[in-house]
Amino acid sequence: MFDSEFDLIARYFSHLGASRSDVLLGVGDDCALLRPPPGMDLALSTDTLVAGCHFFADVDPEALGHKCLAVNLSDLAAMGATPAWASLALSLPAVDHAWLQGFAAGFGRLAEQAGIALVGGDTTRGPLSISIQVQGLLPAGQGLRRSGAQAEDLICVSGRLGDAALALHQLQQGLEPEPALRARLERPSPRLQLGQRLLGLAHACIDISDGLLADLGHICRASGLAAELQLEALPCAPELLASGDWSLPLSGGDDYELCFTLPAEQAAQLPQLAAELGLPLSPIGRILAGEGVACRLADGRLYQPKQRGFDHFHD
Ligand code: ADP
Ligand code: MG
Repeated sequence: MFDSEFDLIARYFSHLGASRSDVLLGVGDDCALLRPPPGMDLALSTDTLVAGCHFFADVDPEALGHKCLAVNLSDLAAMGATPAWASLALSLPAVDHAWLQGFAAGFGRLAEQAGIALVGGDTTRGPLSISIQVQGLLPAGQGLRRSGAQAEDLICVSGRLGDAALALHQLQQGLEPEPALRARLERPSPRLQLGQRLLGLAHACIDISDGLLADLGHICRASGLAAELQLEALPCAPELLASGDWSLPLSGGDDYELCFTLPAEQAAQLPQLAAELGLPLSPIGRILAGEGVACRLADGRLYQPKQRGFDHFHD
């Protein structure tokens, strides 16, 4: 197929990411051999990105390499896990060395920052698609779940919501988003440090990939409870706030911020934690008895969202 599949793997993927002493054998054999530390739980997650669905086929390959790892790391962040190992299944329409070099550079830089080693994968010819599995480590029994929310918990989110959807909206209109806004779509930052700091502190946590309403809805369903949001408390871009249209911060995808619930008595810790992490952390509502997610306007009226969130199998 290629120059040789094996030349490609050796050239671009054999030494990507962090070097770790717990990787006994990395890329090149039938399996990687890893040695998890005793007493730790393994957190494992997979995400696939398909050209034309999750990204524009002509997107900068360096940004794509970053993003496809970032969305996987975001799942580790949501559990409070520390990244350890990754594998990469790549389907490519053709060999394009400039593309592969850019992709590997974007993937490799983020992997080094996150301390994750690429230990294996698969390389085939086909429509452009990227499937990554990540594994992380957690102190035994401590992983942050969706199901742990309790009535009266404070609902909090990191960063700003709706930026990625706003950038996508502008691109779809043929506009050029400001570089910082475009980066929120193309180079999301997985909130790994925050997730780890929430261990033993938050009752429940999820990363926001399909929009706040949809993802907070998962916490509510898993916990058997309801949520009430105060819309004016949502952290979002000034132009979104001014528009009075809440659909992007509520239902836009690709934010990769964390939504977590805190016992009310821990609320006072939020500003200090935000300062320590250099990341805004906003209280946006409360967990209540009941079901579903309700949104309140500043004047106390209920707001009816137009759409709930992104779902691949829903028209
Ligand atoms: P096998 O035929 O035994 O499944 P492969 O020929 O598919 O092995 O892959 C050879 C080695 O290269 C394996 O160690 C595999 O994990 C690794 N590998 C293949 N593709 C990638 C990739 N895109 N990124 C990282 N490692 C890869
Ligand atoms: Mg084999």
